[in-house]
Amino acid sequence: MPTEQQLEVRSHLLSAVRDFVKREAIPVAAEHDENDTYPTTLFDQMAEMGLFGLTVPEEYGGLGVDVTTFAMVFEELAKGWMSLTGPIGSHSMLTWGITKYGTEAQKKKWLPDLASGKKRGGLALTEPGGGTDVAGMQTKAVKAKNNEEYVINGTKQFITNGRNGDVFLLLAKTDMNTKPSHKGITGFIAEKGPGFTSGKDFNKLGYRGVDTTELIFDDYRIDAENVLGNKEGKGFYQVMDSLETGRINVASRAIGVAQAAFEAAIKYAQQRETFGRPISTRQSIQNMLANMATKIHAARLMTRDAAAKKDQGERVDLEAGMAKLYASEICAEVTLDAMRIHGGAGYVKDSPIERYYRDAPLMIIGEGTNEIQRLIIAKNLLKTYEV
Ligand SMILES: Cc1cc2nc3c(=O)[nH]c(=O)nc-3n(C[C@H](O)[C@H](O)[C@H](O)COP(=O)(O)OP(=O)(O)OC[C@H]3O[C@@H](n4cnc5c(N)ncnc54)[C@H](O)[C@@H]3O)c2cc1C
Repeated sequence: MPTEQQLEVRSHLLSAVRDFVKREAIPVAAEHDENDTYPTTLFDQMAEMGLFGLTVPEEYGGLGVDVTTFAMVFEELAKGWMSLTGPIGSHSMLTWGITKYGTEAQKKKWLPDLASGKKRGGLALTEPGGGTDVAGMQTKAVKAKNNEEYVINGTKQFITNGRNGDVFLLLAKTDMNTKPSHKGITGFIAEKGPGFTSGKDFNKLGYRGVDTTELIFDDYRIDAENVLGNKEGKGFYQVMDSLETGRINVASRAIGVAQAAFEAAIKYAQQRETFGRPISTRQSIQNMLANMATKIHAARLMTRDAAAKKDQGERVDLEAGMAKLYASEICAEVTLDAMRIHGGAGYVKDSPIERYYRDAPLMIIGEGTNEIQRLIIAKNLLKTYEV
């Protein structure tokens, strides 16, 4: 259970985030979305609020909030504009990885600048030959200079913060022959420099304004002291743990977008009149509103349950997987229902409904597709109910 002091910190933080979203982000979201422009000022303000160091312990300059508060912050941000959550979501996977698995020297070296947002980063896992099939990655790290360095070659794709980020939790193969092959994957704390650059930018359906790019490693030399936790071959396990909080953050984003769509729909339904009365008096519209709110409530309870268990220090593959699966699926349904309720007014860019609809599918794909969530859930269930 959180202490009274933690609850007070949570309440202040959420109120500040709500205020920021309402005053600063919502008024400019549509323009950034339309032009696909990076909202530098908004991200700088978020850095000032400490949001880049949400889960970084206070001793390293972060806010040190629990996973439940982290989830609530993501929901509030996504309710305004889902793109606000991208850069701090990916960045948090890096800071979570360093906090949990880094050596003391690595924590001291990287966390203060990452917590303040002076340096920004993300997770560099996916590549053309290895998205879902992480072990199929081809990025290779070869030891050099009497084992003091590695030389890395390869290309990552779809990387959030790829252009504006400085430091990435990079996964590369240090052993191409080990079986199973994920045991040959190592995590590096990699900073851009000679041999490590951004490649092409991807033009996306939704989640616009956020830079999603290739990362190119061309004889990139990195000190061996940047192997996460000084442990070669452990990258896959380290990232799978970070992905648990990643899935809680994606579920929270989905709930925020769905909540925004629902609130717009229930307001519009009471204002829009057809045949002499508001459409909210029609049973078919009421059924939709009731289903939307029920789904959002269930998704929120599942996500908060996963977050609370993570706060108890438990592994939550099952709960985080279920929350991410359910919240992202209902987000797609709810945003479409909000569009149905708005009729033509929901299909045009005069209202944010069509943006909510375009932002929803990323939550189905990102942080492990929903097909993969189902496999993870089933694997856990078969273990629990083994006969
Ligand atoms: C906007 C955006 C931002 C992203 N940000 C990042 C980031 O910051 N860092 C990062 O590392 N990655 C990032 N990603 C990558 C994302 O995590 C991957 O796209 C996702 O994991 C799916 O991988 P893939 O695209 O290679 O699809 P594939 O793996 O090719 O999957 C294609 C389809 O096949 C299905 N499939 C694959 N294998 C199986 C199986 N064994 N059983 C059943 N179905 C299967 C999938 O579910 C999917 O439906 C981002 C993606 C997007 C679109």
